[in-house]
Amino acid sequence: MSSPYAAPKLLIDGQWRAGRHTLTHPIVNPADGQTLDRLGLANADDIADALAATERAFAQWREVPAHERCARLERGVARMREHQEAIALALTQEQGKPLAEARAECAMAADLIKWYAEEARRVHGRVIPARQANSRMTVLKQPVGPVAAFSPWNFPLVLSARKIGGALAAGCSIVLKGAEETPASVAVMVDCLQQELPPGVLQLLFGVPSEVSQHLISAPAIRKVTFTGSVPVGRHLAELAAKHLKRITLELGGHAPVIVCRDAEIDRTVQMMVTHKFRNAGQACLAPTRFYVDQSIYGHFLDAFTAATFSLKLGPGLATSTQMGPLANARRLAAVEELVQNSVSRGAKALRGQAPESGFFAPATVLTDVEPDSPVLLEEPFGPVAAVMPVESVDQAIALANQSRFGLAGYLFTDSARAIERVSARLEVGSVAINGMGVSVPEAPFGGLKDSGYGSESGVEGMEAFLETKFTHYFA
Ligand code: NAD
Repeated sequence: MSSPYAAPKLLIDGQWRAGRHTLTHPIVNPADGQTLDRLGLANADDIADALAATERAFAQWREVPAHERCARLERGVARMREHQEAIALALTQEQGKPLAEARAECAMAADLIKWYAEEARRVHGRVIPARQANSRMTVLKQPVGPVAAFSPWNFPLVLSARKIGGALAAGCSIVLKGAEETPASVAVMVDCLQQELPPGVLQLLFGVPSEVSQHLISAPAIRKVTFTGSVPVGRHLAELAAKHLKRITLELGGHAPVIVCRDAEIDRTVQMMVTHKFRNAGQACLAPTRFYVDQSIYGHFLDAFTAATFSLKLGPGLATSTQMGPLANARRLAAVEELVQNSVSRGAKALRGQAPESGFFAPATVLTDVEPDSPVLLEEPFGPVAAVMPVESVDQAIALANQSRFGLAGYLFTDSARAIERVSARLEVGSVAINGMGVSVPEAPFGGLKDSGYGSESGVEGMEAFLETKFTHYFA
């Protein structure tokens, strides 16, 4: 099945226009390795135009009352929902995930922006009792200013929506650099929203990533930076932001531990874990990756987990029977294969399913006999790879889980009050789900510890990231 696909243009100051860079970027369908189109990129002049427009637009947007900002965003969200099928189709073609997952991602992105839109009406400061008569002390919450946002290719809609929704609801303008590998889905989403906004409030660039981030972060107009992606790029952007004293939020991936206690319902736990482990072919920062299973149920768990894993149907995302699509690009396929081979050469045993030969498919893989210093435990797998290990106690599982340099999400399966208490208190992660998977919802904060980054997106904390605090002391 093939459908038309066209690379989008850049959105600068309310106009969709061609990028003027001499380079273009090939957009590749990961299901067959064929080039879908070539993406025009922004040059320095395009970026300068976007910077001038974001400054002008901020001056205007910050004056728009919160109720109107909310109404405009809600109309944009309604248009996104009308165009869900087109957005999802583009996402599957350029990113590879099954169409059902692409539709769900579009719905989640719409939900996120809707929640932020509503939250715009609840941003308020406070009045502090004055120390002396005839004076008044107030605290104001004001939009921080124009935002530079960078979103990746694994969940291009949701991870852009977290940034767009928060910035626009708070009264900031935003320049989003989308991922060059997955541009069309984000462009349709952005177009749905921008039709309700003054020109320049929401802009979309694609470019040579290092050039765009250098120009945007060093520009005096930009007051806030937000990035989701890898640790090395996050570290580089944090250095740039520090040099220019810009506030930055970083979400840099995870390596989520799953602690399965002896009282866990194995069939229900396995069904939930396999679905979430292999969603988006494992390319999710909150994907369960390290399974610490009580030794008394380890054999039973492993049999059920591998049976469910190897029954997954792999194929192109547009085929209705597909449960797991290809990896998003050739470098992920190479990286996943290298990680599995390195782990095996360090003593792990690999159980692997079948995978189609064309495109960037990696087989679903379960690793056992994994030592604590195995490559699969040190690096974020970001692919369809699960490591399953027996443990003697919850305390041992927590200690092993905390050895990772990542700390984004964690999962626990038990009804033991003691285990719930200990894991909630001591697991070094930003979010924990117990007997479920819900660590990412619009109304709750989402962010990491350690190498997973800092700052939160979503929830009131996510909104706060786009606000600054001003104290006013008035003497009559
Ligand atoms: P990468 O480090 O090359 O790029 C990661 C993202 O950052 C991409 O979207 C890329 O366009 C962007 N980027 C790269 N250099 C940049 C720069 N100088 N300025 C601004 N943006 C820049 O990695 P990759 O090969 O795309 O992915 C590798 C790893 O990244 C994965 O294994 C995973 O660990 C991590 N990752 C995490 C997330 C997440 O959701 N936290 C998303 C994507 C990738």
